[in-house]
Amino acid sequence: MPLVVQKYGGTSVGDASRIRNVARRVAERKRSGDRVVVIVSAMGRTTDDLIRLSREVSDQHHPRELDMLLTAGERISMALLAMAIRDEGVEAMSLTGSQAGILTDTSHGQAKIRDIKAFRVEEGLEAGKVVIVAGFQGVSPDTHEITTLGRGGSDATAVAMAAALHADVCEIYTDVDGVFTADPRIVPGARKIDEITFEEMLEYASAGARVLMGRSVEFGMRFNVPIHVRSSFHDEPGTWVKEATMEQPIVSGVAHDTSTAKVTVRGVPDTPGVAASLFTPLAVEGVMVDMIVQNVSSEGATDISFTVPLELLDVARPIAEATARAIGAAGLDVDDQVGRVSIVGSGMRAHPGVAATMFSVLADAGINIAMISTSPIRVSCVIAASQVDEAVRRLHDAFITAEQVVAP
Ligand code: ASP
Ligand code: MG
Repeated sequence: MPLVVQKYGGTSVGDASRIRNVARRVAERKRSGDRVVVIVSAMGRTTDDLIRLSREVSDQHHPRELDMLLTAGERISMALLAMAIRDEGVEAMSLTGSQAGILTDTSHGQAKIRDIKAFRVEEGLEAGKVVIVAGFQGVSPDTHEITTLGRGGSDATAVAMAAALHADVCEIYTDVDGVFTADPRIVPGARKIDEITFEEMLEYASAGARVLMGRSVEFGMRFNVPIHVRSSFHDEPGTWVKEATMEQPIVSGVAHDTSTAKVTVRGVPDTPGVAASLFTPLAVEGVMVDMIVQNVSSEGATDISFTVPLELLDVARPIAEATARAIGAAGLDVDDQVGRVSIVGSGMRAHPGVAATMFSVLADAGINIAMISTSPIRVSCVIAASQVDEAVRRLHDAFITAEQVVAP
């Protein structure tokens, strides 16, 4: 009997009628003969509301208690969904992350899944039940504390659980039809991508596409679990994320991200060790640095620029300031009005002109590029935040709509 792991996001379980709608779909799938495990997110904006509430109660940071609080969101959805599925005449049972054997490291708020001991899930399946598991949470076997996996973490729960159970597919149900060639709110002509490789999806997610949490794609890739991203509102197929695809377009999609800030340390002495003295303390504080550009000028001093997620700027800025002082740099500039546009596609490997074409498209639109970074299948540019939408439209026109025009 095929085994499917389905994940329903916050919008899909946003109110009682939507929960009943999900219950009908799950029951139908079960009756068709599949074994079904369901991972749920918290209803609607519950997680945001709980975070807000915690801030109203206390302005201190309480990582352990925050995890206790936030995991309640998924616990509400799992119990309600189990009730609704049973009303459909199908046996169902809900489990918290810890009951489902999701074992994590000890870190609160950003825990990583270390192992899954899914025997209670397997028992439930064996007994013919639909098993519902609360997403986004686990337990540390070292501290016995409840942990959360970071925002959007239910995706990771779903793909990891699918891997642990050797499921045939992991279906991620969401409020959009799949993964798009660009954000349809910016590019009305953006189209759904039928198939995309794990590798491309990973780059796409890290470039700002929010439909799938990056870490879940890593699990999919590592354990080769095909992921089907699809709408919870209809039955049309969505986007398959898998190891290889039939087509290898040069550019699969255009991603963007406006929650980026750029930091420049000016006039850094050009001596061994300065980069290490800047980026080591940032890494220790968990600041994910994305692009790094260093330029040696004729006077033997360098400027080092890098980007950080906007929400980590308050952590990064004082570290950069302190380091700049310590190493005798000339000064520090911070720009939070920047964004990133990226093009992603496996076919880029075989086509050298792609980056050049991207730069020409931006130049023709009068858009200045502040920083560039590349991987073998991605090119990203940092530009003014106010020009991101225009850049996305132009790049989509050039690479997707006009079918892969590439400079010779
Ligand atoms: N409820 C959590 C969040 O909003 C986890 C998730 O939705 O995947 O981040
Ligand atoms: Mg969510």
